[in-house]
Amino acid sequence: MRGCSAVITGAGAGAGAGAGAMAMAMAMCLCPVPSMSRSRSIVGVNLKNMTVRVFQLNQKQVCSASLSPPNSKRFLLLNHHNYGESDAETEFVVVNFYRFVFIKDPAAEVARHLSFLKDLDIHGRVYLNEQGINAQYSGPAKDALLYVEWLREDDRFSDMLVQISQAINGHAFPKLKLRYKPSLVQLEGGISHLPLLDPSIRATPLAPSEWRKRLEAVNEINEASNENIITEHILLDVRNGYEWDIGHFQGARRPYVDCFRSTSFGLSETEDIASDPLANVDKEKTDILMYCTGGIRCDVYSTILRQQGFQNLYTLKGGVSHYLKNEGPAEWVGNLFVFDSRLSLPPSAYKPKSMVKVSKGELVSKNNPFARCYICGSQVSELRHRNCANLDCNLLFLCCKDCVKDFRGCCCVNCITAPRLRPVLSEHQRYKKWHIYRDLECKAS
Ligand SMILES: [Zn+2]
Ligand SMILES: [Zn+2]
Repeated sequence: MRGCSAVITGAGAGAGAGAGAMAMAMAMCLCPVPSMSRSRSIVGVNLKNMTVRVFQLNQKQVCSASLSPPNSKRFLLLNHHNYGESDAETEFVVVNFYRFVFIKDPAAEVARHLSFLKDLDIHGRVYLNEQGINAQYSGPAKDALLYVEWLREDDRFSDMLVQISQAINGHAFPKLKLRYKPSLVQLEGGISHLPLLDPSIRATPLAPSEWRKRLEAVNEINEASNENIITEHILLDVRNGYEWDIGHFQGARRPYVDCFRSTSFGLSETEDIASDPLANVDKEKTDILMYCTGGIRCDVYSTILRQQGFQNLYTLKGGVSHYLKNEGPAEWVGNLFVFDSRLSLPPSAYKPKSMVKVSKGELVSKNNPFARCYICGSQVSELRHRNCANLDCNLLFLCCKDCVKDFRGCCCVNCITAPRLRPVLSEHQRYKKWHIYRDLECKAS
């Protein structure tokens, strides 16, 4: 660990002594890299080959080192420094990763994962099948990263991009769902028939810095020309419409679907041409720049577009979350919708340069003229969705304070008179599981 020393103050008690066992500990990283210096970090210690990895929340893994202690079951104290251990125990993170790779026996793989996780405090969705893995989960940093390290010991997953962000209030998911799932991504018609294991078929991944350069160039061209010229670039937001509503790259059109599942860009035959940004596009000459939250939807959808004959497909590697972490909010407006209880995060949550810890209050992002109330169209300052109070509608929508009051938390006039209404939520609250309200309804009737 050249020039970097880590102080290990507390060892994971359940480290186990078997080959390949790992332990997590809290550490103070004294790495000379400016952003890392004296920052709070997590150290992963692999007892098999005694490598140490230093993570910093909101940063990539930054340091790696091999240790040669006299006894491989003991931790090596590199440097003494007092650091509160309690934070390591209580600090929660949210972890996202996916990988398309052939898994011969997914059922056995699921069992292996369940067995590893049984003593860890992990909540979230981990899906496996013959095409690979897709995971979003939360947990105390030590548990959450222990799982990552365990998975990375496997060559199939060793170089996988893992995205870590700070949780706001403990777990971001209600419980752990780890199971075989026929489709790693929900898309009409399923995805199991797609050649997802062949990276040469999908879009070419662009690093965040390359993506930014491309966007800056495209947006300059578009600003310079007053006319609606047909550019040779198309910026494609491959997400749900409601995600675009609270934040997107400048110049990206709102997806016309409310749900990615029914995306059909580039597949139009004759109908719906106006809503399809890829209709009538020169498949050989046009550069398609596509992005989504974490990258997986683009990997899937670009495979489909390739099969449709589109030649120049590019995707943002690691999606918007990876971009915001590396480039900050350049070319981006608003917040990023996330699929856990946090609902949306400001770019500052990803790039920890000028900001402090994310708190509930900071989810509010001002000056977002694009963000409009779904009901009245007035500008909303808070980039946070709410679910329609009508249990049978449940639409995610942006709403101004007045309309929340006037429509009793519903999305439209019809929903106000619906039979199964939930109470109006106050700010930052989310509805509990729907069956709780259903059961209330049953008792009441
Ligand atoms: Zn309104
Ligand atoms: Zn509704």
